[in-house]
Amino acid sequence: MAVPQNKISKSRRNMRRAHDALVAANPNECGNCGELKRPHHVCPSCGHYDQREVVAVSTGVDIDEDAA
Ligand SMILES: [Zn+2]
Repeated sequence: MAVPQNKISKSRRNMRRAHDALVAANPNECGNCGELKRPHHVCPSCGHYDQREVVAVSTGVDIDEDAA
């Protein structure tokens, strides 16, 4: 098994981790419904992309409580 030859100092470790921060998402407004959505992704609330519907969004599934 490969083993590090030298200990990484706290300074060097922290310098490496200086670039590890997560960046916030950059949401766009949906052109159809105005909901915030990820850029270059189908709108999750209305299923539109580039002003046309590409995914049919279900309006909820009927669950029969007595059937279970
Ligand atoms: Zn939308």
